[in-house]
Amino acid sequence: MYPKTRMRRLRRDILRPIFTETRLSPEAFCLPLFFDEAAKEEVPISSMPGQVRYPLSAAEPLAKTLYAEGVRSVILFGIPREKDACATQAFAEDGVIQRAVSAMKAAEPRLVVITDLCACEYTSHGHCGIIREGELDNDESLLLMQKIAVSQAKAGADMVAPSCMLDGMVSAIREALDYEGFSNIPIMSYSTKFASSLYGPFREAADSGFSFGDRQSYQMNPANAREAFRESELDAEEGADILMVKPATFYLDVLADIHSLGLPVAAYHVSGEYAMIKAAAANGWIDEKKVVMEAMTSIKRAGADLIITYYTRDILRWLNE
Ligand SMILES: [Zn+2]
Repeated sequence: MYPKTRMRRLRRDILRPIFTETRLSPEAFCLPLFFDEAAKEEVPISSMPGQVRYPLSAAEPLAKTLYAEGVRSVILFGIPREKDACATQAFAEDGVIQRAVSAMKAAEPRLVVITDLCACEYTSHGHCGIIREGELDNDESLLLMQKIAVSQAKAGADMVAPSCMLDGMVSAIREALDYEGFSNIPIMSYSTKFASSLYGPFREAADSGFSFGDRQSYQMNPANAREAFRESELDAEEGADILMVKPATFYLDVLADIHSLGLPVAAYHVSGEYAMIKAAAANGWIDEKKVVMEAMTSIKRAGADLIITYYTRDILRWLNE
């Protein structure tokens, strides 16, 4: 009459922790950082409470503080003083990112410093490469990405993360890095990046809005899961070391799919995902810590090896409590 199988047996307080399938470890989190060449001090980002743009002078102390807090990897975005049509500052030897990387690595060599590799923060028009006749020129932009990759590796980056969604970007960058003697530098490709409405706060953070158009022609349609798989599969074939899904929580099905390709997968919990939790928590509508930990657990459960999130420092603190 009564159930023989009782799923509740293993849910008792004393047993539940033993049978937890998904656990969060500190190494799995990567913190995005914004360096602003023109800033003299920290500049708060109003749409991302708790996040700031850092001046270059903060790079050294920050590397030490973050490592001491348990942060094991960071991904850097630069905001140059000068922008132009061909993103010159993105590959300048004394560019904002090149200086930030070398300062952080000098201060704390154990901190893994990843560089976002794109042109949109450096172009006056805000697009991710070279524009010809109102369109992003794929192949000419690949040459630009090669130059940026090499300059970032020379500055000491441990890994480059191309986010431009150009066709052939991974193989072009791999070739340039290998040619310049950086065959040990891995490529974490933003292989499946959706044209999401969740990037709004980031544009304020990185000052990367556009003067015309949007990025629909090169970022993915949120409705397309098979195309998303194919995008990541192509990047794997081109030699990507790590694949990525961006944003994270709205795309867990895609993440689980891509995990099946067998490469390590990163998930980017983006600015809008961060801002939504912050706003609801500030209103007292949700418990911030519980919601964040549940979001992170779901991303991990779907197959992410690395989670890039603005919540990294809070998560490390909460994991220690
Ligand atoms: Zn871009």
